[in-house]
Amino acid sequence: MEQNNIFDVTIIGGGAAGLFAAFYSGLRDMKTKVIEYKSVLGGKMRVYPEKMVWDVGGIPPITGAQLIEQSIQQGLTFDPEVVLNERIDGLTKTDDGTFVLKAASGQKHYSKTVVIAVGSGILDPKKIQIQGKGDYEASNIHYAVETLKDFKDKTVIISGGGNTAIDWANELERICKKVYLIYRKEALDGHEAMIKHLLSSTVEFMPETIISNLKTNDGEQTIVEQVELTKQTTGEKTFLDVDEMIINHGYHRDTSLLKNSRPAINLLDDLYIKGNVNGETSVNGLYAAGDVLRFDGKLELIAGAYQDAANAVNKAKHDIKPDARTIAMVSTHNDKLKAWNRELMDEMLDDSNQSF
Ligand SMILES: Cc1cc2nc3c(=O)[nH]c(=O)nc-3n(C[C@H](O)[C@H](O)[C@H](O)COP(=O)(O)OP(=O)(O)OC[C@H]3O[C@@H](n4cnc5c(N)ncnc54)[C@H](O)[C@@H]3O)c2cc1C
Repeated sequence: MEQNNIFDVTIIGGGAAGLFAAFYSGLRDMKTKVIEYKSVLGGKMRVYPEKMVWDVGGIPPITGAQLIEQSIQQGLTFDPEVVLNERIDGLTKTDDGTFVLKAASGQKHYSKTVVIAVGSGILDPKKIQIQGKGDYEASNIHYAVETLKDFKDKTVIISGGGNTAIDWANELERICKKVYLIYRKEALDGHEAMIKHLLSSTVEFMPETIISNLKTNDGEQTIVEQVELTKQTTGEKTFLDVDEMIINHGYHRDTSLLKNSRPAINLLDDLYIKGNVNGETSVNGLYAAGDVLRFDGKLELIAGAYQDAANAVNKAKHDIKPDARTIAMVSTHNDKLKAWNRELMDEMLDDSNQSF
């Protein structure tokens, strides 16, 4: 293993937590690598490019797509090495303390410290199941809303009762001809304010109801034209004509990386890392940030991911350089940012001079 192949910090996952960890690691002058399974950075935020995000401190309402763009820009500020299309399947810590990360491609990555920021792992949406037909595919069945305008003036059925289904019902109600929300349980399972908004809107909520059959066209491309719904408590059937269907039944999650790591990491339900507010795990030098990390008082939001990432990186810095400050100084103290600050200030002064 050549010394120059060993990174100070390797971040697994390029979502909100991974990108902020990359920024922060650069701020702390560490040689940084980000490894992402997908072909693009952004993580879960890519599920909701056109949803508004209201709860990131200091940022007015912003679409998921804008937040991805800004997060990537920030994450790449200090030019970390970025490896895309690379799935890490396991890692080991060698006797000299170096971590060896094993990728599905056969590639190995070496690092002095690691931040696991894999969110909910590798996600694959649960497909709609129709009895006797298994996973059902049709061109108007969607598992995420990529472009809102594709749904404009249409009749849309959303199946699901969690935050994602509720958020989409609220967003789409403004532009669709009609939105139905079908849920197998009696009560919705989301943020109170969003449920209240939904129940006072024109969205027709059908509780204790499942999609029991689909009628499709005879064309080359399968399109669902009518949906059969069954009320679970009475067996009563309803038939609705639809233009588009959105299925939010959750995800199959592959978190095998967490189980395939040696020494073993303390886990919760094999899906999350049991750690602490500093991003520390049960393995020295191995940190976690974002949705994958659990501790008392954890904020399971983007804002929480940022805090985890900064804390984890500060700890990693301390491992590598024990005399380094345990927390970063304010960002303007970084030499690279100091130089950019001067340029930005000059530009701002130029702009304000021109406006006089
Ligand atoms: C529909 C929806 C709406 C939301 N709305 C809001 C909101 O309004 N405000 C808010 O604060 N939060 C919101 N959230 C939650 C927020 O998106 C998450 O808390 C945040 O994105 C978590 O970031 P993360 O980096 O921890 O994980 P992720 O964004 O999930 O990123 C993890 C990354 O790791 C990669 N990865 C996984 N396993 C591997 C592996 N083995 N090897 C390599 N790469 C791997 C994944 O491909 C992924 O890119 C919402 C979530 C959803 C689903």
